[in-house]
Amino acid sequence: MHLLPIDPEESHRARMERKKAVVDAAIARADQDKGLLLVLTGNGKGKSSSAFGMVARALGHGLHVGVAQFIKGRSDTGEEAFLSRQAGVVWRVLGEGFTWETQDLTRDTETAQNGWAVARAMLRDASLGLVVLDELTYLLKRGWLDLATVLADLEARPPMQHVVITGRGAPDALCDAADTVSELRDVKHAFRAGVRAQKGVDL
Ligand code: ATP
Ligand code: MG
Repeated sequence: MHLLPIDPEESHRARMERKKAVVDAAIARADQDKGLLLVLTGNGKGKSSSAFGMVARALGHGLHVGVAQFIKGRSDTGEEAFLSRQAGVVWRVLGEGFTWETQDLTRDTETAQNGWAVARAMLRDASLGLVVLDELTYLLKRGWLDLATVLADLEARPPMQHVVITGRGAPDALCDAADTVSELRDVKHAFRAGVRAQKGVDL
C-alpha cells in the first residue's frame, strides 16, 4: 500500500477544525440561563476562596450578593475585611456560638436553626443574584440542620439566583440537587510542612 506523506501543518489544521466543530456544537447546545446551585466540597484547599472569587465576579457584573458564614474559623480574614465593606454585599456570620467544648446539642441545634432562618431570608430575596452559604455542610453532617428543609428552601429560591455551598463532606443528596459539583482533592498543603496560615492565601 502506498502511503501519502503526512503534512504536519495540514494534519494539525484538520485536527483543530474537528475540535472547533465539537466545541462550537457544545456551546450552541448550552443555550439556557438559570440560577445555579454549586457545591464545592472535598478535603483540598480552595472551596471558600473559590466562592469568594465568584462574589467578586458577581459584584463586577452589578449583582447583589449575600454571604452567610456558618462556621467562623477566624475573625481576621481578608475576604471579610474587603468584601463585607463593598456596596451590594450583605455579610452575615451565623456560626458564632457553636459549643465545640461542651457539645450542647440542644444549643447547637438552636444556633443552627437561627442561622438557617437568616440564610432562608436570603434565599427568598430575589434582589440577591448570588448567595454563598460558606461551610454549610458541617451543620448538615452534624445533624444540626435538617437536610430536607435545606433542600426545600434551596429549591424554592428565585429562579435566577445562584447559590454556592462550601464545606467538606457534602451529603450525596445535596450533590444530587446541585447543578455543578467540584471536589477539591488534597494533594499537599503547606501547613503540614510547618507553614502557618499566610495572609492573602489562607486568610
Ligand atoms: P480556602 O478558604 O483557603 O479556600 P477551604 O475553604 O477549601 O480553604 P477549609 O476546610 O474551609 O478549606 O479550611 C480553611 C482554612 O484551612 C484555610 O486557611 C485553608 O488554607 C486551610 N486548609 C484548607 N484545606 C487544608 C488542608 N487540606 N490542610 C491544611 N489546611 C487546609
Ligand atoms: Mg472553607
